[in-house]
Amino acid sequence: MSLSHPVQPIVEDDETIRAALESAFVPPLLPALAHLTGDLSLLRPELRPDPEGIRLEQGGLTPEQQQEARALALDVLVRYRDEGCPPAPALSHHDLQGLMEFTTGGAIDEGYIPFLEDELGADGVDRGAPTWTLDTVAPGRPFRVAVVGAGMSGILAAHRLRQAGLDVVVFEKNSDVGGTWLENTYPGCRVDVPNHVYSYSFARKDDWPHHFSTQAALLDYFRTCVDEFELSYCIRFDTEVVSAVFDEARATWTVNVRESNGREESVESHAVISAVGQLNRPNIPVIAGQETFAGPTFHSARWDREIDLRGKRVAVIGTGASAAQFIPIVADEASELRIFQRTAAWFAPTPEYHDEVPSGLQWLFGHVPFYSEWHRCWLFWRGAEGLLPYAEVDPDWALDGRSVSAANDELRALLTMYIEIQFPDDPELGAKVVPDYPPAAKRIIRDNGIWAATLQRDNVHLVTEGIAEITPAGITARDGEQHDADVIIYATGFTASHFLTPMRVVGRDGVDLHERWAGDARAYLGMTVPDFPNFFCLYGPNTNIVVNGSIIWFSECEVHYVLGCVRLLLERGDAALDCRVDVHDAYNVTIDEGNRRMAWGASTVNSWYKNERGRVAQNWPFSLLEFWERTRKPNPDDYEFLRAQTAEPAGTLPA
Ligand code: NAP
Repeated sequence: MSLSHPVQPIVEDDETIRAALESAFVPPLLPALAHLTGDLSLLRPELRPDPEGIRLEQGGLTPEQQQEARALALDVLVRYRDEGCPPAPALSHHDLQGLMEFTTGGAIDEGYIPFLEDELGADGVDRGAPTWTLDTVAPGRPFRVAVVGAGMSGILAAHRLRQAGLDVVVFEKNSDVGGTWLENTYPGCRVDVPNHVYSYSFARKDDWPHHFSTQAALLDYFRTCVDEFELSYCIRFDTEVVSAVFDEARATWTVNVRESNGREESVESHAVISAVGQLNRPNIPVIAGQETFAGPTFHSARWDREIDLRGKRVAVIGTGASAAQFIPIVADEASELRIFQRTAAWFAPTPEYHDEVPSGLQWLFGHVPFYSEWHRCWLFWRGAEGLLPYAEVDPDWALDGRSVSAANDELRALLTMYIEIQFPDDPELGAKVVPDYPPAAKRIIRDNGIWAATLQRDNVHLVTEGIAEITPAGITARDGEQHDADVIIYATGFTASHFLTPMRVVGRDGVDLHERWAGDARAYLGMTVPDFPNFFCLYGPNTNIVVNGSIIWFSECEVHYVLGCVRLLLERGDAALDCRVDVHDAYNVTIDEGNRRMAWGASTVNSWYKNERGRVAQNWPFSLLEFWERTRKPNPDDYEFLRAQTAEPAGTLPA
């Protein structure tokens, strides 16, 4: 697989073009054609997406508007073909902004334009690439960075560090790259962010097989990135980082690793980037009698392919995002399927969730210059602040546990209706899957109707009475009913709040990171922690999202910031930077206040966003724009700068 597919000249007949346009997403179509031809009059005001309807399919454009836009597009593409597919004229910055305003329905705040330009990437320039290298900033100075993990954010970090000419070593406990996309192989596993925006901004892929592709396609993408970024040389597979210890005299980190064959080694580095992810250590809840169960059990993230579920009585504990993806498939195979739901999930109607990208749309991506770029930009904008306004708590709203504002209540009504209309013959069952907490207090799961259809199958039974115990024969519910099972599948999530475990991290004065956190992980901008100089977390505390953006976008911001920190050190001639306690603490106060004002912080519903102390340790409560602005450049005032105390020049590393 290769990421780059140059746009092909159009040689097809009018009818082929017309047919392809039928499957177009219309809002990005006219901006792409205006970009291609330089004819801004194509941006007809009457065909502009409705800013209020931007999240609706086709941006709220009526069928008539869509047809008019398609007809206009057909004329333009036929002319473009007949003229021999001439190169596009250069557009001014101002013109590009006009195209963005049109795509977003005109509702765009000035501040978003620079980062939308990054997302658009229409000039093919990798805007996130470092504009400096070690040779230009501190020639001859050794600077090695150890990256822990070769998942999505580790690959990204390694690529950027390499672009800056730094010495990189990546330690990966698995035998392959991909992180979560390598480990989660359960049937039905797929991305729940539109795939055309779930990719690095600088390594787009236009030919995703599905709007929301499956795990195999995602894993393939990350493997291809590693090949194209030429990173294989610096990744050490089957090598787990056991601990990282800061040496104050040398201002370096000693990274202690263990290979899968048991061999141990210490590697010195000037900085450590933890890219270990959050959702990879399975959470198996303690349930009375679970060890007595006679049959096999496994966790969704450790799917056991040796166990044939066909004709078996299967029990699934949990109804989160993973369960919602594999349960419909298991229901096809199992003779009986019992689903143990503790808390119902909200579902967002997404009709195209399982659909392949139609061939006409694939053709447009492959033949119409700029169409895929504007499509990405449109998708990004739709999801940028997404449902954030619907998740904000209105302090004047009478909190009844069911909603947090009028807008949230309105969303609740819509999502409730979506559930109820799918259970016309069994409203009692429908009522059991209507959550009793506000939408956005937990992650909203995408759905194309398959969840309700599965629950109404004859061989599927939803158990909501709670689990009393597990017996050798199955699961006993709290109402005393025994549910016999041959296999139990735990879809019970991950120990997400145990950030960076089981790795041991020791900073200045022997401070242990896990003792410091004491189960309540915090960091400045999710990345730096006082007393842990040059130790950076990606996807660290409070960098997760609930209803907007994508984790890839957050990681790109974080890596940009980390590179900025390294540059700062190199320019200053300092060895390390250590986050100031007051800066870190004040920041976390703001974060906590922000989260309290959001549905996920205000609601008492249990979720993996909260740690054992009940604090929201996962989520970023503000806009994407704010995270983007805060991560453009480190402020030197936020840090204390350290020099190596040994006479030895900083960075003399053992070979
Ligand atoms: P999860 O959302 O944490 O769901 C865990 C489920 O197990 C919940 O229904 C939970 O119930 C239940 N559970 C936990 N302990 C239990 C117990 N003792 N008894 C009964 N039920 C119990 O985990 P997940 O489904 O693996 O998803 C985790 C996150 O991974 C998602 O939020 C999402 O961010 C990510 N994810 C993404 C995708 C995707 O992009 N395609 C797919 C899967 C996962 P309660 O709700 O009552 O706690």
